[in-house]
Amino acid sequence: MIDQLLSNNMAWASARIRADPQFFRRLSAQQAPEYLWIGCSDSRVPANEIVGLDPGELFVHRNIANLAPPRDMNFLAVLQFSIEVLKVRHIIVCGHYGCGGVRAALDKERRGLIDHWLQPVADLAHRHQTHLMAISDFETRVNVACEHNVRAQVEYVGRNPFVTDAWRRGQTLCIHGWIYSIRDGLLRNLELSVDRPSQVDELAARQWFPDA
Ligand SMILES: [Zn+2]
Repeated sequence: MIDQLLSNNMAWASARIRADPQFFRRLSAQQAPEYLWIGCSDSRVPANEIVGLDPGELFVHRNIANLAPPRDMNFLAVLQFSIEVLKVRHIIVCGHYGCGGVRAALDKERRGLIDHWLQPVADLAHRHQTHLMAISDFETRVNVACEHNVRAQVEYVGRNPFVTDAWRRGQTLCIHGWIYSIRDGLLRNLELSVDRPSQVDELAARQWFPDA
């Protein structure tokens, strides 16, 4: 069945050329995306597709639970390159409801390496435990934690030196926090956008009770 993927690819490339004969020639000359997407690896959240963007329009970083870890080389390389070379104007942290990574950080089962990766989410849940434990339905609690996680990652990105240096240089850069629902295919803006250091401080200070 794996060969099916290669024939799918041939069909896709032909269709693109039929619609726009210069499509690949133009793309191969350069990429100039305006957006960096930080999303979950979950196969049900295909970045380009859900925001209707073509190849070349979205620079994408995905990992389990859409984290922006301040010491992850992969993430940092993506962040620096997208800001300093591609000069993206928007960074979108996109979580999704029912995230398996967030759920795994809450259910306290041992899974191995993934527990280490998800430690920041477990810490976050611990910080918000009064609010989270008041939610009796576990899936609702997971969804609220998914929103808390988006907010925490927006804050991490907003405090990252690559971002604060860009702001100091006067570069236009706005960070957004969105969440996607696998159930209806819709994105929701969590109204966490920040485009300068003072807004990151305001976001950190703001009492925030998501209502997933
Ligand atoms: Zn996920």
